[in-house]
Amino acid sequence: MKIETIAIHAGNKTDDATKAVIQPIVMSTTFEREVDGSYAKGYIYSRAANPNRHLLENVLAQLEGGVEAAAFSSGNAAGMAVFQSLKPGTHIIGPDDMYHGLRNQIKSLFAGILEFDFIDVNDEAVLKAHIKSNTGLIWVETPSNPLLKVTDIKNVIAIARQHDIKVVCDNTFATPIFQQPLSLGADLVMHSSTKYFGGHSDLMGGALITPENNEWWQRIRQVQEMGGAIPSPMDCYYLVRSLKTLPYRMKGHEHNANLLTRFLEKHPNVESVMYPGLASHPQHEVAKSQMLGFGAMFSFCVKGGADEAKKVLSKLKLFTIATSLGGVESLIEHRASVEGPDTKTPHNLLRVSIGLEHIDDLIEDMEQALAF
Ligand SMILES: *Cc1c(COP(=O)(O)O)cnc(C)c1O
Repeated sequence: MKIETIAIHAGNKTDDATKAVIQPIVMSTTFEREVDGSYAKGYIYSRAANPNRHLLENVLAQLEGGVEAAAFSSGNAAGMAVFQSLKPGTHIIGPDDMYHGLRNQIKSLFAGILEFDFIDVNDEAVLKAHIKSNTGLIWVETPSNPLLKVTDIKNVIAIARQHDIKVVCDNTFATPIFQQPLSLGADLVMHSSTKYFGGHSDLMGGALITPENNEWWQRIRQVQEMGGAIPSPMDCYYLVRSLKTLPYRMKGHEHNANLLTRFLEKHPNVESVMYPGLASHPQHEVAKSQMLGFGAMFSFCVKGGADEAKKVLSKLKLFTIATSLGGVESLIEHRASVEGPDTKTPHNLLRVSIGLEHIDDLIEDMEQALAF
């Protein structure tokens, strides 16, 4: 089945009891037991399993080409389940531009439990130099935030394999529509479902997807079920609903990103544009070889400094100044302010999550905001 078909059918099942075409939302926390103690439909208690979560996990697994998925209440909860599944003392290597919320989580909650290094994973020599006998995990996030750097997933996996190290790929920016890390050999895929999966900036969620049901995966399942950072039946329902349009939303987002980045690249008040789909992107060829499309996140640097960048922000009408990404409405933010005083992000950089408005309106808005 093609991905558009999977998105519509893998998370939906006609209800046996009523023949409703769309699955009902099962709010019940508990399920009736037979006198002999068995559970006729396999459900016992909703923290362990719930019909809506079951369908959500089914569509997530199939979209990423995996065998099982575990849904969480946020992307950070999904990431945390990975770190909690590791033996204490395990060394993990993450990218120096890893999503700051997860990097901070490791640094503050796992200090003294796990060892970690945040490095330039794209530099093969640096990566190899940081591998130790207790390294158990390499975390990959590509394209990265907010510089849209691209990591050669296959290359990292080849290095990891030589040392029996697992590779996890945060696929939030690309989504399985544009990148399928499991097919490149990744051991696990992680998502913030809050972003493109939800797609409407109105729910929080996270997911992990595995290519096989191994011992590590069973440990992750334990963290999910015993830790309990699970999404509600309502959130699962909304996510399944949103995922049905994911392929078409992604195509629309990408179409807009392609045209707006090309407009910005030619604009005299723009210093640079960071988007893997541009021939000027330093890893454009790597992106072309491992991605099925280039996604819709991009950043650009306004000529001048923070003042000029903020002036552009203040003049935009269709781009809302807000963090997060992946919704149908266009968002923009000054990343250096968000990341705080120790940020390495250029002060004239603006990060854009382009929505599904008509591209002519978005270009017109950008044009008036950049006229200074
Ligand atoms: C947002 C995000 C996360 C964290 O997800 P939450 O749903 O906010 O907890 C992790 N990785 C990336 C790339 C993200 O954009």
